[in-house]
Formats: sequence, structure tokens, C-alpha cells
Amino acid sequence: MRDVIIIGAGTAGLTAAIYALRAGKSVLVLEQGTYGGQIVNTPKVENYPGIEQISGYEFASGLFKQAEKLGMEYRNEKVIGVRQEGTCKVVETEGEIYEAVALVLATGAKNRPLGVERETELTGRGISYCATCDGMFFRGKKVAVVGGGNTALEDAAFLSNYCEQVYVIHRRETFRGEDKLVKELREKANVEFLLNKTVQELKGDTTLQAVMLRDKNSGEVSRLEIDGLFVAIGQVPENGIFADLLELDEGGYIVAGEDCRTNVEGIFAAGDCRRKTVRQLTTAAADGAVAALGAAQI
Ligand code: NAP
Repeated sequence: MRDVIIIGAGTAGLTAAIYALRAGKSVLVLEQGTYGGQIVNTPKVENYPGIEQISGYEFASGLFKQAEKLGMEYRNEKVIGVRQEGTCKVVETEGEIYEAVALVLATGAKNRPLGVERETELTGRGISYCATCDGMFFRGKKVAVVGGGNTALEDAAFLSNYCEQVYVIHRRETFRGEDKLVKELREKANVEFLLNKTVQELKGDTTLQAVMLRDKNSGEVSRLEIDGLFVAIGQVPENGIFADLLELDEGGYIVAGEDCRTNVEGIFAAGDCRRKTVRQLTTAAADGAVAALGAAQI
């Protein structure tokens, strides 16, 4: 029986581990992939207070080392179910069953797919959801980024350093991402904005060769020849395994307030998996601290 089990080792989960360990609790962190969460794919973090600039990977590594040094127990296992037995919380992974006094769910969110035909087939064959992971394969080539949030803008900036041409395809005229990033991109000679456009079709036999774009105002369809398409249109949560136990909202996010408390006593939701309006590194870290301190009092 652990004091606290944390599911997910992104910024929220690892921050929760640090706070719970510092509160003297035994902590098990379960992660199905690699630690760090979404931030590891961000080349430059420039808006975390007190740190002028750091790579997402470096940031995540720092968090992990800090938690490890404090005594975090870390296991690379996929959680398949969570249930309540009396006041005890039971977590089932593919190979083990664990028990805890309190749980912190920090499962984040996964990349939202475009939902266009042949997207799965061409993923890894010209389509990518991670510019920092796959950008190098497109050195000197023509690529496009879809999306108008910070991820798309940062991806475009990163790719513009290596690629011959970068197109930013966005379905509206204005951006959800920061003005500063938009301005910086506008000044780059090899970046072009294609606004009010959506990707309608993917072309290419075995690898992506072009996309058909539909102009939202005129309805006109045009062909854009590219070697790579980076999809950065936000995230969707992966909270299906908690649906029997916890209240989820219409988007699938766990319903919990700023205190991170869910509808079940002793279960907390932290970071991007929680219903909230601002999803930033700072708010993920803040959630991790709030959830862990709540969990430490159970
Ligand atoms: P986001 O802010 O939710 O933006 C998603 C973008 O994709 C929006 O521009 C949206 O268009 C567009 N979109 C959504 N569905 C689409 C579809 N089916 N087809 C075409 N376009 C679609 O997502 P994000 O950029 O991944 O960012 C997620 C959160 O992480 C945000 O809070 C962001 O600020 C944060 N973030 C922070 C940093 C940082 O602090 N360094 C870096 C990256 C991300 P509309 O605008 O028209 O809805």
C-alpha cells in the first residue's frame, strides 16, 4: 500500500511526485510511455517564470531527476483500470495491481488527429505530430504545419530553421497562439501563412506528396505540393478508463476544480487531463502541487 499513486509522468505528475515526497509520503509514479509528457516535444520554453529559456526535454529531465532524488518509485506500466475498494484506491496495470490511500491522475492528453482520409496510413510517411522528433527528416524540404495555437507556431519556427519552405495552414484569420510568435514567423522569408484554409485531402501513393486545401470563404480547392505535414491542432484527453468511476465533461476531461478534487474522495486530477481553461506548463505544475498537497492530507 503506497500513500500516493500518480498516473502519468508529465509536468503535472512529476511535480505532484516532488510535492508528495517532500510531504513525507511514499509515491509510486506509473507511466505508459516515456516520462516528460508533451513538453519534451517543445524545443524552446520561454514562458516558465524564472527560467528565461530551456528546452522541453531539459525541463522534463530536471523534474524527473528531482523526483528520483527525493525517492520516487517509478514504473513503466500501462494502467488499464482504477477502482475504489472501501477507502482504498486500486490501480490495475497490464501486469500488476497496486493499492494506495490517494491517487493523482495526470494522464495529460494526446494529439488530435485531422480526421482526413488516409491520415493513419500516411503517418510516418510524410505526416507527423511532432516537429522536434521528425523535423530533421525534412531538412531542405517543403513542409506545412496545420494549426493556429502555440504548438503549431512553435513547430513552424523550429522547422523554418531546417526546411526550405514552411507553410502554416490555419482555419481562421486570427491565431490562438501568442502574437509574439506570429510576428516572429511573419518576419521569416521561408514561412508563408495560408489562412482560412482546411486540409481536405491527402495526396501521394506511398508517401505524402501534396495536400488539397479548401478555402473556407470562397470554397475554392487548391493543391499544395509538400514533403511533410505536421499536425498541431490541439489535444484530446485519454480518460476513458476512469469513466466508470469519475465524472467527465462532454470533451472527456475529468471534472475537478482548482483544488483538483474529483467527485471521488482521495482522487485528484492534475494538468491537461482536468477540465480547465488554461493549459500551460505553469498551470500543469501548479495543479501537480495542489493535487499532491491535497493527496498528502488524505
Ligand atoms: P490549441 O491552443 O488548442 O490550438 C489548437 C489549434 O488547432 C487552434 O488554432 C484550432 O483552431 C486548431 N484546430 C483544432 N481542431 C482543428 C481541426 N480539426 N482542423 C484544423 N484546425 C484545428 O492547441 P496547442 O497549440 O497544441 O496548445 C495546447 C495548449 O498548450 C495551449 O494552452 C497552449 O498555449 C499550450 N502550449 C504552450 C506552449 C508554451 O507555453 N511554450 C507551447 C505549446 C503549447 P481554432 O483556433 O480555430 O480553434
